[in-house]
Amino acid sequence: CGIVGAVSTRDIVPVLVQGLQRLEYRGYDSCGVAVHGASLDAARPAQLVRARSTARVAELLEQVRTESLQGATGIAHTRWATHGAPAVHNAHPHFSHGPGGADADAASPARPGRVALVHNGIIENYEALRAQLQARGYVFASQTDTEVIAHLIDSLYSGDLFAAVQEAVQQLHGAYAIAVVHRDEPHRVVGARAGSPLVLGVGAGGAEHFLASDAMALAGVTDQIVYLEEGDLVDLQLGRYWIVGHAPGRDARQPLTPAERP
Ligand code: GLU
Repeated sequence: CGIVGAVSTRDIVPVLVQGLQRLEYRGYDSCGVAVHGASLDAARPAQLVRARSTARVAELLEQVRTESLQGATGIAHTRWATHGAPAVHNAHPHFSHGPGGADADAASPARPGRVALVHNGIIENYEALRAQLQARGYVFASQTDTEVIAHLIDSLYSGDLFAAVQEAVQQLHGAYAIAVVHRDEPHRVVGARAGSPLVLGVGAGGAEHFLASDAMALAGVTDQIVYLEEGDLVDLQLGRYWIVGHAPGRDARQPLTPAERP
């Protein structure tokens, strides 16, 4: 339903959650936020931490305050369930912890993730992908179609989140806007869109960058909006962003107009 993401140098959790508040009018059944623990302070553990709720976004804001959830890089979501009941374990962000581990352990909500992902839309071939990933040892913690994307990206990751997302989206059939963070890349958010809207927000001075499913989520944060086009992938890093376009029917995988901001 709603997506907000950010790469910054300040604690971005309040901006992410306020962004969700601006999208509340669209309706949702649950919400959540995940940040990279070491993105704000390198002394913190390099892990992805999250808070999720089936209550109002205002409750999520309370939760992140109580739990002192802080980070300069993160993603947030309001969910309108299509696959899997409205419940905390189905709320986004979804994590992939990598394959293996005892079932109970691997699916434990307390276990920190390697990949965190939020998604708007529907993945039509999620059952086939889930079977393939389960055969490779991935344990699923939700009933959503979304969770396959997190594990798929994890399975394709070899040090470059953008490359992993670029490869993963070629296997997805359906509609999506996604935003993804990796444990090993504390200052990077990768996004992609096909069939669901996603915009890039350029922060003041170009030092911080944002993603959102609707420019309204970034009101008061930035009015410099770049509308992503169908099939675009976007790579947000500190002080730079990169957009890679694809021809419709993305199997052609044609980079069109990479645009880098000075
Ligand atoms: N299909 C996904 C789910 O049910 C995303 C729904 C949405 O766009 O909020 O979790």
